[in-house]
Amino acid sequence: MALDQCVPYPADKKLAATGVARTFDWAGRCLDRHNTLKVESNKHGGPLMFGIIQGSVYNDLRTQSAEQILSLDFPGNAIGGLSVGESKQEMEDTLTHAIQYLPAEKPRYLMGVGYPEDILMAVSCGVDMFDCVLPTRNARTGNVFTSRGQITYRNADFADDNRPLDPDCDCKVCRRYSRAYIRHLYNQSEITGMGLASYHSSYFYQNLMRSIRKAVEENRFEQFRREFLDTYRAGPDA
Ligand SMILES: [Zn+2]
Repeated sequence: MALDQCVPYPADKKLAATGVARTFDWAGRCLDRHNTLKVESNKHGGPLMFGIIQGSVYNDLRTQSAEQILSLDFPGNAIGGLSVGESKQEMEDTLTHAIQYLPAEKPRYLMGVGYPEDILMAVSCGVDMFDCVLPTRNARTGNVFTSRGQITYRNADFADDNRPLDPDCDCKVCRRYSRAYIRHLYNQSEITGMGLASYHSSYFYQNLMRSIRKAVEENRFEQFRREFLDTYRAGPDA
């Protein structure tokens, strides 16, 4: 990724405009240097560099940033500066506006997102790539993602719960260990508990992305999205 300036939320327009200008300046310099290094180090390809669109929640700044970054002709383009505290509606509105400028034949990457419902919304808008710390960060603090929403496995409710973290999951953790056991490990500050929980949540996200790709290929993504969210929002004990 080219270096960028991701302004905090909320940011006034002056600060957001400064971020857009600096992001463009750095993008050009990063790409020049990247291309120089690439030519020197590997004549047969090597890593690609993506540019990043900034502009906070201001549509005109997003337009300006998109035009600037696209003028540099990166092999892939990212939308940054979302999931920094804005509402879900602002995220969706800004993404819907910004992504219309990004060519569909190049990867479109939404940085730092996110929750399963946000990923599904973004795929619906045309996003191809994501990254997020949520599955592992939450798992390390006692919370996992399941097909029926998040559960805080460290809670006392799970002290005698012999079901797996996610009864619908076939990962190696869910096939072998109970919520009660993983909770016990966590509460004894035994790091294996966090490891098992992180493994499950990472598996859950991999599985979600695999299912999304399949649904897109089979032209039934919106149906998949509805069905997934119906179950996900029903809650763990439904
Ligand atoms: Zn699992």
